[in-house]
Amino acid sequence: MTIWKHEPAGTAGEASSPHPVHVDLHGTPIGNLPAWPAPAHPYTAPTERQPITMPEPISTPTGPVIVVVQAHSDDLSFFGSGTIARLVRESGYTAYLIQTTNDDKCGPTPSVGETILANERETEELARILGIRRVFNFGYQNHFLDAVSVAELRSRLVFLFRLLRPDIVMTFNPAQPAEQNPDHWVTGQAVEAARWMAGLDKDYPEHLSAGLAPHIIRGRMYWVARAGQPTNRIVDVSGYVDTKVESLAVHQVQGPPGRPDGACVQPSPNVGWSFQNLVTMTTPPTVPTSAGSCLRPASNWVRAMA
Ligand SMILES: [Zn+2]
Repeated sequence: MTIWKHEPAGTAGEASSPHPVHVDLHGTPIGNLPAWPAPAHPYTAPTERQPITMPEPISTPTGPVIVVVQAHSDDLSFFGSGTIARLVRESGYTAYLIQTTNDDKCGPTPSVGETILANERETEELARILGIRRVFNFGYQNHFLDAVSVAELRSRLVFLFRLLRPDIVMTFNPAQPAEQNPDHWVTGQAVEAARWMAGLDKDYPEHLSAGLAPHIIRGRMYWVARAGQPTNRIVDVSGYVDTKVESLAVHQVQGPPGRPDGACVQPSPNVGWSFQNLVTMTTPPTVPTSAGSCLRPASNWVRAMA
């Protein structure tokens, strides 16, 4: 162990050398110390060396709006990408995508940071394919959304719902039977609570002070993520099979089926699973319709088959 000793001004040490004298614990001078390494990148505060780039402000669309809230990069691709493509292209919907987790468990790379970044880029590519206007990443830890403050998650959703003012929100069924992924059921339940709360004028009054208004979301689409979850609407996306496949193929990092070993253009168990779902979506429903309606399109947007 060594200590660094600065000679006081006017002492013999300073007179003999402009540099401090290095001594060990016993006061014995130490020579031949390596020079203090200069940092590879001298530190400057981010605000001093990086221009702050703000995204374009959200402009109010003139047509209908749908907001998709997913937990992971591939959720929408599996469960609703054909429907979103159809709403955007045929019915003039403006679509936004909110993702609650950062996908840090969703990839083969040993680096957590690279896994998150790769999934984030693939989500942006998914948005481009489907014509989604903007992606909002909440960045919570993958598989641990149940450890997040529900009130915080809900408040962030309320803010975006009041800002984006969707006619429909698409996400997981908040009842979530047969769902084992905590990110899925926490997301569904938070969205349902935020959807309701966004329309009330006493919650988060600072939003109103900032110019936002309460907003009631009347349309809800809960996709079928697991076998056994209820459905009362089948959307015909047979005209968007290519788009559906393209959206699935985006997910090279976490797959399937975007991974090279499960490529969409080749028959594989993964692709079979995807097409089977698509075929099911284009045929009349054979599953019981749930009591009541949990899916109420805000307008006569597509030719539904149920
Ligand atoms: Zn998921």
